[in-house]
Amino acid sequence: MNFALPEDVIDFGEAVKQFAIEHVQPSAEERDSKEEWSTEIWRKMGEMGLLGLCFPEEYGGQGADCLTTTYAAEKFSEGAFDGGLALAWGAHTIIGSMPIVLCGTEEQKQRYVPKLATGEFTAGLGLTEPGSGSDAAGSMMTRAEKKGDRYVLNGSKMFITNGPIGDVFIVMAVTDKAKGPMGISAFIVEKEFKGFSSGKKLEKMGMRTSTTSELIFEDMEVPEENLLSKENSGFLRIGKATLEWERTVLVASGLGGISGMLDESIRYAKNREQFGEPIINFQAIQDKIARVRSKIDASRLLLYISAMKKDKGQPAPNESSIAKLHTTETLMEAAYELGQIHGGYCFIHEYPVERFYRDARLASLGGGTNEVMRSIIAANYK
Ligand SMILES: Cc1cc2nc3c(=O)[nH]c(=O)nc-3n(C[C@H](O)[C@H](O)[C@H](O)COP(=O)(O)OP(=O)(O)OC[C@H]3O[C@@H](n4cnc5c(N)ncnc54)[C@H](O)[C@@H]3O)c2cc1C
Repeated sequence: MNFALPEDVIDFGEAVKQFAIEHVQPSAEERDSKEEWSTEIWRKMGEMGLLGLCFPEEYGGQGADCLTTTYAAEKFSEGAFDGGLALAWGAHTIIGSMPIVLCGTEEQKQRYVPKLATGEFTAGLGLTEPGSGSDAAGSMMTRAEKKGDRYVLNGSKMFITNGPIGDVFIVMAVTDKAKGPMGISAFIVEKEFKGFSSGKKLEKMGMRTSTTSELIFEDMEVPEENLLSKENSGFLRIGKATLEWERTVLVASGLGGISGMLDESIRYAKNREQFGEPIINFQAIQDKIARVRSKIDASRLLLYISAMKKDKGQPAPNESSIAKLHTTETLMEAAYELGQIHGGYCFIHEYPVERFYRDARLASLGGGTNEVMRSIIAANYK
């Protein structure tokens, strides 16, 4: 594989980073503190083409491949210092919209994708439930029953990113309980549908610039034309189509966050003096920098391999799971070590490393926990 990124991809990544430095980073601390969603930044991201980056051009997107999208996600977070907004972006573009792009009918794509590309519609994915997370398919309680030309959904979804502000959600529901995971269907649900409501905004430890809530369906009516892919093929077909995108692009945001925070920590270590000299002169500090730096590079290669395989049309379930596991473990380690470089200041709100520490906690949980990633990887060797 050729790991040299094309020049236009590098240039685009730099432009995305500059956008994030200029428009996102300056207000990140305040938005995190107030747990505030910014429609203004979201609109600007839409204007720059970021909200439809990997959608086909014929539906208003930018037509970027998986590698370009991965690199853009990385560079955005490198400049933004805002894990929450990167999460909202990933939830909208990858898990909320790509199922329609990859599995939707022509009519569904025409109806939704152009509005998702501009940000007129914001999307999310409703898979997790209050009682089912890792075993999302096996323990799913949300039911969809066909009645005439519509499906009637009852149940709820938990921890849904963009829940309070979203317009369109991909919602998984059981259509044939006897078939287990092969009896789950996916639906395109609009917030205006009768019987839809979103619960109160959940207060979070990190990723506070994104919004999260429960979604509740009480006899919610979904027109049959909003069934996504064939009945009973929702979980397996859509999961297969989008999961590897999620485990590559969303994880790349975490990688960019580490990279940006490492640069920030090196700057700090050069300026902070103890015992009459900059702390970067101490071997203990250099050791932290070297360990985080080398793990960033390893994560980057793993993510690029996964993205390149996607772009070649090859499945990458193992590669994307390994990339997710390695990057999120690096993220947790970096949150601790880069915090140590800042001493007591890592505990103070106005230092971005404090926000980074809280945001990092989600990485080993969302999109499949690290325990689940290890069992997927190990399953190859049974
Ligand atoms: C901020 C945030 C945003 C989220 N956004 C979304 C979203 O947009 N859409 C969505 O659908 N979901 C979303 N989630 C849900 C997230 O994907 C789940 O939290 C995650 O999949 C874990 O599920 P759980 O919390 O139910 O934990 P559980 O599945 O209950 O796991 C609890 C513990 O048991 C372990 N465990 C479970 N099963 C096994 C096993 N077989 N082997 C070993 N260990 C196991 C887990 O690793 C974990 O340590 C979000 C969560 C958060 C916190």
